[in-house]
Amino acid sequence: MEEKATLASLSPYVPGKPIADVQAEYGLEKVIKLASNENPFGSSKKVQAALAKSLDNLEYYPDGGAKALKKAIADFNGVSEEQLIVGSGLDDVIQIISRAILSDGDEIIVADPTFSQYELHAVVEGANVIKVPVDSETGTIDLQQMLAAITDSTKIIWLCNPNNPTGTYLPQAEIIDFLAQVPRDVLVISDEAYQEYVTIEAVSTSLDLLPKYSNLIVMRTFSKAYGLAALRIGYAIVSERFKRPFEIVRLPFNTSTLAQIAAIEALGDQAFIEETVRTNALELKKWEVFLTDSQVDFYLSQANFIFFDTKQDSRKLAEQLMRRGYIVRAGLREGWLRVTIGYPEDNQKLREILSNIW
Ligand SMILES: *Cc1c(COP(=O)(O)O)cnc(C)c1O
Repeated sequence: MEEKATLASLSPYVPGKPIADVQAEYGLEKVIKLASNENPFGSSKKVQAALAKSLDNLEYYPDGGAKALKKAIADFNGVSEEQLIVGSGLDDVIQIISRAILSDGDEIIVADPTFSQYELHAVVEGANVIKVPVDSETGTIDLQQMLAAITDSTKIIWLCNPNNPTGTYLPQAEIIDFLAQVPRDVLVISDEAYQEYVTIEAVSTSLDLLPKYSNLIVMRTFSKAYGLAALRIGYAIVSERFKRPFEIVRLPFNTSTLAQIAAIEALGDQAFIEETVRTNALELKKWEVFLTDSQVDFYLSQANFIFFDTKQDSRKLAEQLMRRGYIVRAGLREGWLRVTIGYPEDNQKLREILSNIW
């Protein structure tokens, strides 16, 4: 029995190292994880209170259709419950979409660099991945080159907005212009995992465009600004024509009861999100000033991380930082590091360590 042939070129995902591993390995008491874009302020206190009250009835399967959560998400976003697919994080939603849409010989278009899971699932399904480099000066996704890369085989264009790892943001006007030029049988997926963090634009979303473009899908998650990465819950807003294929491949109980309850509570506490976003924007500014003063190239971020050129072996630098108790992300582009915006004091200390190394 051989493994599926499409797996030959793939490797298992390597996540950011857990804090406990680094503590044990380096004999450190305090370790700060700034490698996976988690929220340093945790999650809404209302979530914890609701979960504590929900520990009865664990013997029952969850509501596979996530009815109550869908109602909350629909109300919050002003969309219909019929347009929602809920998943065990966006990782699950990306797999659902890829499995339902892609076959052997299809093509997807992605930015380079971008979130790695779009490519992984496409390759598993036998599809080819066309990579369009981001603008090297600004780090922005190159929409013109993406349009030029469309062929008769193109099935999906993945737009990560803001883009992970560059942090750059495509304003709505550019998305509108882009959608007007994409053939209607090509899916455009806007992965808005970091949408809450966007501050440069009030209408910072593709949501308004859904009624006009049935080939558009918008994805959101509770893992980043909402601080619920441990519970695994995210969703996509889709045109009703995709409900059937996505519901067929979705596992029947793909999100847990506790995750659904937590997500409803988290949506209800927008004050927590506002405070998270406000602090993040201030801290991001301090990183920009520091990197500018240090003459280090970086991209302008609208997310909760910043991506910069260390002009050295960034894996070695990441290792050096780990020895001092800071876990950051190397390996996304030669010489560059991605650092999550953490607590103000931790950001300050990390900048001091870096300025001593540089
Ligand atoms: C973190 C991240 C995800 C995955 O989030 P989960 O909902 O935790 O699975 C998806 N897309 C991007 C761009 C991300 O950075």
